[in-house]
This record gives sequence, structure tokens and C-alpha cells, in this order.
Amino acid sequence: MRTIGLIGGMSWESSAHYYRIINELVRDSEGGLHSAKVLMYSVDFAGIESCQVEGRWDDAAVELAEAARALERGGAECLVLCTNTMHKVAAQVAGAVAIYFIHIADATAAAIRAAGLRRVGLLGTRFTMEEEFYAARLADRGRVEVLVPEAADRAIVNRVIYDELCLGRVEERSRAEYLRIIDDLIARGAQGIVLGCTEIMMLVGQGDVSVPTFDTTTLHARAAVDFALGGPAAGESTRTGAVPTSAGGPTA
Ligand code: GLU
Repeated sequence: MRTIGLIGGMSWESSAHYYRIINELVRDSEGGLHSAKVLMYSVDFAGIESCQVEGRWDDAAVELAEAARALERGGAECLVLCTNTMHKVAAQVAGAVAIYFIHIADATAAAIRAAGLRRVGLLGTRFTMEEEFYAARLADRGRVEVLVPEAADRAIVNRVIYDELCLGRVEERSRAEYLRIIDDLIARGAQGIVLGCTEIMMLVGQGDVSVPTFDTTTLHARAAVDFALGGPAAGESTRTGAVPTSAGGPTA
């Protein structure tokens, strides 16, 4: 079994879910007392969030690249950056090490492709919803059109992530707001909904939504386990292909 390296803490609420899901998947696959070989470097999110708000993405990239190098030195054989938003600096982080970088949008795109959808709605932080680094990659690799909520609703989705979910607060009122926003995306033609922030799975899941949902936390964790248990070792296309169809569909 290969060792998975997690760059976590963004927020730690979702990193805890990564750790649990990865171990559950290894247990289900290998049986008995088997569990995942995992290293986690968990950052102080306050500093990263300040970099985001102040546009100091290069400073954040330096910190995350250092985390990546520490994981590599510690024996990690792949890197999992446990946040959609910080994939804005994925190239700098992946470029700092020689080990395999599993891109969250690629794992998600593979699932969307496997489901054969033409148009999906994307929820995430304002950076994820409004900038090119994420939606363009998802559209390209998922061969899908990506819709985002209207501006006022994007502000709500973003606020709930930072003011509630990243602090471990799961509010019924916010769930209702998210479901309203999801319904609006479906009315605009979305055939699936990408939960494109690793905390959103704490608030809404497949049971709440009438179309397939793509939980990026679970899909990313599953891609890491596929790698750890002997999936393809290198190459962009094989990396994407490492996510099996079973991961792709609606998450339970
Ligand atoms: N975990 C979130 C994401 O997946 C947001 C926190 C962050 O800004 O990194 O985008």
C-alpha cells in the first residue's frame, strides 16, 4: 500500500472527513483491520484565508509548497490538497515535489464524464465559482458546461462556507438556502450539482437533491485510495482515469 500525503486544515473540519473516508474505503477494500497509510500536514487556516482575501496567493503557495516538501520528505507517495479553492495554486504545490499530485477537479471531472452529463451546477467559494482555475478545468476534463449561481446567491454560498461550515456550524436555515440555490441551478438546466467545496458535504448530500451530486471530498479521497491501493502511478490521463465509475455517480 502506498502512503497518502494530505495537505489539510483548510478547513480542518473537512480534513477530518478526508481522513475518515480514506480509512473507510481502505477497510472496505482490504477488510479486517486494514487502514490507510496517511501523513497529514495541517496548516493554520487563518493565515491561508488572509492570503485569499488579500490576494496574496503566492504567499499561500509558498506555505503549501513547504507542506508538500515536508510530506514528501516524510515518505508520502502522493499529494492530496484537501481544498478546492487552494487548487488555484496547484501548479506551484505540485511543482515543488516529485511525487504524484491528485487534482481535485480531475477526480470530479472523471466522475461527471462517467455519469455522461452535459451540464452541471457548481457550488463553492467565490474563488472557485468565479475564477477560471477550477470551472475551466472541470468543463474541459469533464466535457461539460458549468453553471454557477447568480451573484447574490454566490455571496450566500461563500458566506456559509467561511462563517459557518469551516467553523463546524451546520445550520438548517443555510441548508434551506443551499437547496433553493440548487433548485435554481436545476431549473437553469443543471443535470448534476458539484459540491465544489470540501465542507459542503456537511450541509447537503445526495438525499437532499433530485439530480446527481458530486461530492468533491469523497471523490478526491477515493482517488487517493485508488492510488494507494495500486492505481496508475503516473501520467495525467491515467491519473484522471484512476477514479472508477463507482466513485462518479451520485454520492450516497
Ligand atoms: N474547503 C474549501 C474548499 O474546498 C474552502 C476553504 C478554503 O478556502 O480552502 O474550497
